[in-house]
Amino acid sequence: DIMKDRLTDIGPPKYDKFFPPFIKDNYGKWKYHEILEPGVLVHVSETGAEVYTVRVGAARLMSVDLIREICDIADKHCGGYVRWTTRNNVEFMVDDKSKLKPLMDDLKSRGNWFPIGGTGASVTNIVHTQGWVHCHTPAIDASGIVKAVMDELFEYFGSHKLPAQVRISLACCLNMCGAVHCSDIAILGVHRKPPIIEHERVQNVCEIPLVIAACPTAAIKPKKVGDYKSVEINENRCMFCGNCYTMCPALPLADGEGDGIALWVGGKVSNSRVPPMFSKLAVPYIPNEPPRWPTTVQTIKKILETYASDARRYERVGEWIERIGWERFFEKTGLEFRHEHIDDYRLAMTTWRTTTQFKF
Ligand code: SF4
Ligand code: SF4
Repeated sequence: DIMKDRLTDIGPPKYDKFFPPFIKDNYGKWKYHEILEPGVLVHVSETGAEVYTVRVGAARLMSVDLIREICDIADKHCGGYVRWTTRNNVEFMVDDKSKLKPLMDDLKSRGNWFPIGGTGASVTNIVHTQGWVHCHTPAIDASGIVKAVMDELFEYFGSHKLPAQVRISLACCLNMCGAVHCSDIAILGVHRKPPIIEHERVQNVCEIPLVIAACPTAAIKPKKVGDYKSVEINENRCMFCGNCYTMCPALPLADGEGDGIALWVGGKVSNSRVPPMFSKLAVPYIPNEPPRWPTTVQTIKKILETYASDARRYERVGEWIERIGWERFFEKTGLEFRHEHIDDYRLAMTTWRTTTQFKF
C-alpha cells in the first residue's frame, strides 16, 4: 500500500494520537466533572480514574519563548502533555490529586504569565480573529482590543462572581471568522464605506467575472472607464463586507473614518434552560481608538457590570435581557437607542441597507 505511512499536509492528524495515556484509557467513560475552584476542574471516570485540570489564560499570538515555557511546565508536571482550548486558554492536566498543588504553585510562582481561571461564572479568554496583524479585510484590530478589554475585566477571569459565564468574542469584520454571532458580548469590526475602485489597476490584478460573482448582494457590474475595463458598485446595495476586496486588491475598503466597532449582546450557543440565541445590536459604532480603545473598553465594562448587578443567578446575558426587555436594557446600561437598531427591511425595494446588520 503506497499510501501507508505517507505524510501529507492535508488536514490535521487524528486527535487521539495526542491524548495523554489517562485520557486515552478513559475515552468515552467520563461520568461527570466538577469545578473545584476558579480555573480548576476534576473529571471522574466510571473506572474510578480522576483527572485534574488547571486552566490558565494565554494569548492567541505567542512568542516561541512562552510556548517553550509552557512545554517545560507540561514536561515537569504533566508527562509532556498540554492542551490549547478553542478560546486560547492552556490546560495542564494531572492524573492524581497529589500532583495538583505542586503544579499550581509552580504556575503561580511565574509572575502573571499563567493566571488561573476562565471556568464557570467567569469571563473566560476572549476568542478573536486576526486583526491588523494578518488579515486583509479587518475594520479593527483584534489582539490589541482583546488585550485592552481583558486587562480591564481581569478580575472576572479568576473568580466566579458573575451570575453565569460570559463569553466575549471579537471578529474584525462581518465575514466573522470569530464567533460573534452567538456571544454574550460581541465586538465586531464594521466598515461603513463601500470599496474605492482603482480603475487603472482592476484589469491588471483582478478577474472581473470573479469579482462580480463574489459580491453577496449583486452590487457589482462591469464598466468601461476610459480605456480601462473596470467595474462599478451600486453603493446602496453594498454592505461593506469586503468580499470583492478578497478577490480583487484594486477594491480596497479600509478607511480611517469609516471603520470601527459595533457591539452586540445576548447570544449563546448552549441549550441550557432556553435554546441558543443570536447576538443582537447594542452599539452600532465606536471609532477605532488604538492603542487602548477606551470607549469600547468602558462600554463593555458598563454592559458587563449592569448585567452582573441585575441578572439572576445562572441567567446568561441574553436571558437577562429577554426577561427585563430591550427597552430596560438600554435604560439600565445608559446606551443610546438609535435608528440603526430598527430593522425596517420590509419596504426596501432598491436597497438592502435596511437591516440592523449593515445600516449605515
Ligand atoms: Fe479577516 Fe474578517 Fe476574519 Fe477578521 S473577521 S480575520 S477581517 S475574515
Ligand atoms: Fe459587494 Fe461586499 Fe464588495 Fe460591497 S464590499 S461591493 S457588498 S462584495
